[in-house]
Amino acid sequence: MANETEQQLREKIASQKISLARLPTLRSIIDETGLTSPETKARAQLFKELSDNEEQLELLLESERVAAVVRLQDELHPPQNSEGCPICLETIKHVNFMTIIRFYCCGGWICRQCYLAEKIDEMFHGRCALCRERIPDANNDHKEIGTMVLKHANKGRAWAQTHIGTCYLRGVNGYDLDKKKGLQFIKQAADQRDPEALFAIAFVCKGETLERDKSKYMYYLKDAADLGHTEAQQELALTYSTHEKEKRLHYTTLAASQGDAKACGMLGAYFIYAECGLTKSLVLAKHYCEKNLEDELSAYNFSLALLQLGLERYEGIMEIPGHSPIPTILFYERKVQEGEIHPIKGEATELISRLESQVKNHCANCRKEAGCSSSKRCVRCLGAWYCGKECQVQHWKAGHKIDCIKRMI
Ligand SMILES: [Zn+2]
Ligand SMILES: [Zn+2]
Ligand SMILES: [Zn+2]
Ligand SMILES: [Zn+2]
Repeated sequence: MANETEQQLREKIASQKISLARLPTLRSIIDETGLTSPETKARAQLFKELSDNEEQLELLLESERVAAVVRLQDELHPPQNSEGCPICLETIKHVNFMTIIRFYCCGGWICRQCYLAEKIDEMFHGRCALCRERIPDANNDHKEIGTMVLKHANKGRAWAQTHIGTCYLRGVNGYDLDKKKGLQFIKQAADQRDPEALFAIAFVCKGETLERDKSKYMYYLKDAADLGHTEAQQELALTYSTHEKEKRLHYTTLAASQGDAKACGMLGAYFIYAECGLTKSLVLAKHYCEKNLEDELSAYNFSLALLQLGLERYEGIMEIPGHSPIPTILFYERKVQEGEIHPIKGEATELISRLESQVKNHCANCRKEAGCSSSKRCVRCLGAWYCGKECQVQHWKAGHKIDCIKRMI
């Protein structure tokens, strides 16, 4: 399906809203026919189609906002390190380890997209796609890799100088810890304006290797960020205070546009709390936090967005099988509850007990009150309670199989 335009989506949403307003309410249908009836199912489907379209519209507008940020950045700092991928011939903007896969044998590279396409690995049987050398194992063949990369470094290739310099700085991959030597290599690469090297120097100035020098740290970090280094963009965004919210948003957006998970989590938080000059959007908070669910804070924000969306959609009825966000909300809240971040840990515990007490005093299927002990809840998600086996089976078929999410332990 071709992407629908903003206008088409707006018209569709408006007409869906009008037709829904003309029909009897979802609540009256549920009162009359029950939560799992075909009538309820059909009406819930209409609500789902409406919210899917609303979501698509918000994502479309957001993709336009992001594209404008990227355009602005390209005007201010025209991309310098752009090259064509030898496989797909696409121009790769900002050639660095986020966008490409480097082969240490010949020093060539292919874009990440091409590398991730399964066929590449199959086609070349563990050999370099460019020169057909055997690719050494990144986990075991440190020595072999070290020798290969050093050859390139000695020929003055910036990426290789950065690689060797970082190994010396950290004392890893068969290189003894030697900060002086490490810095020498990295400075050579930084002189060639290698973004990775500039980012590494920023860290040195942050006080991790040398004495802290805040202004140098900012200088190198910004240089790396403006050359398209994703992590540098995300890190730089964090250095701006709330007074510089435009800059903070600008660099967070750039990093997120290149797939940086942390930056996505940051954007998700901005959208849920309407920070950095953005309008609150639960849909976009959900969209971005979902890309960083490994992070507890993002997982927490994700579940909050789902909860608030649940209260806005389906006339606020969150327990319709096949449309219920409750198991997913509980899943991520429990993850946060078991985690390490203290203030939100407590909030998660509170939210879980509030949600649980709302749903566990009646059967999720027949709505009969009481008698739902813990032993009769769905063992897979621990998010639905039943009066008995029969109701549980019916509820699963009615749509819980869509809502249910396997708990971690
Ligand atoms: Zn490619
Ligand atoms: Zn090669
Ligand atoms: Zn029941
Ligand atoms: Zn379940």
